Amino acid sequence: MPRGLSPFGMPARHPWEIPLLVVVIMITGVAYLLAILLVLVELVAEPVVDAQGQPESGGSLLTSPYVLVLLFAPVLLWAGRGLNFARMRINGVRMSPTQFPEGYRLVQEAAARFGMSKAPDAYVILGNGQINAFASGHGFRRFVVVYSDLFEIGGKAREPDALAFIIGHEVGHIAAGHVSYWRQLGMFVAPYLPILGSSLIRAQEYTADNHGFCNRHLGAPGAMATLAAGKYLNTEVGFDEMADRAATEKGGFVLLVNAMSSHPVLTWRMWALRDRSKPGPMFWHPSPPHPGTIPPPGGYPCKQHPQPTPRNPADPGRLPRCLVRGPGTSTTSA
Ligand SMILES: [Zn+2]
Repeated sequence: MPRGLSPFGMPARHPWEIPLLVVVIMITGVAYLLAILLVLVELVAEPVVDAQGQPESGGSLLTSPYVLVLLFAPVLLWAGRGLNFARMRINGVRMSPTQFPEGYRLVQEAAARFGMSKAPDAYVILGNGQINAFASGHGFRRFVVVYSDLFEIGGKAREPDALAFIIGHEVGHIAAGHVSYWRQLGMFVAPYLPILGSSLIRAQEYTADNHGFCNRHLGAPGAMATLAAGKYLNTEVGFDEMADRAATEKGGFVLLVNAMSSHPVLTWRMWALRDRSKPGPMFWHPSPPHPGTIPPPGGYPCKQHPQPTPRNPADPGRLPRCLVRGPGTSTTSA
């Protein structure tokens, strides 16, 4: 099935992801080799002595935390993943047909949507007001974790479409191979590479958003609004109004904040989820489709639906708008 940005077919990988991954893997490989080389040199080289013939103390590479972390990276990563999975297994509420059945069904559906042979395990943990979810793995096991604040009292989804988008995003991380042990070992130094490392993570997030969009495109505005303003005030967020600001908020600091972010900044992320004609903007703020014009509040009217009917006339920010600009694919955010 072809991969693309529309809600149909299979979700596309962001075009920056693999090139950045290759560069980061090469740098990580060089770092591993350097660490091994430095230790070997220290082990076989004659000790450096001072004027009195005493071995100079201090500065041993064998006790340098950076060298040690690199040398033991395979074990540290393996143990970290094992501990993380264990925490979920002993503290998390495992989604099942009887516990958070709606979430369980959404995980099964997302895995089937992406052609995965096995659905990941899924857990709910206490959110304490935070909105978050993540995916990880250990050994051959893969799992997603959803914070409880995405559910209502009674275990139902607070925003069913938004939750389907978020679960699609997390299962998408697994489907795209982002949580593989070998991949994470190859990206081990990414957190220490300013801009380069965060850009790789950001490209992965766009890829995962493409999965979430494929899984439940109608949930994208709700998910973004919840990330922007929380679970109670998300209805105050005009998705289009906020997405429009991606093109108007400019400046060097804006570019820098985005370049250093692990996730695309929210306005750009919303823009990418609305404009499905091209991949999400990575380094430069997006431009409106009509050069020289200031985007009207609420986004550009969709050609296929020239006069959309407002669901709520008092809330222009939530007018149904065109989400898909590609030929032959059209839908609205209503
Ligand atoms: Zn993500």
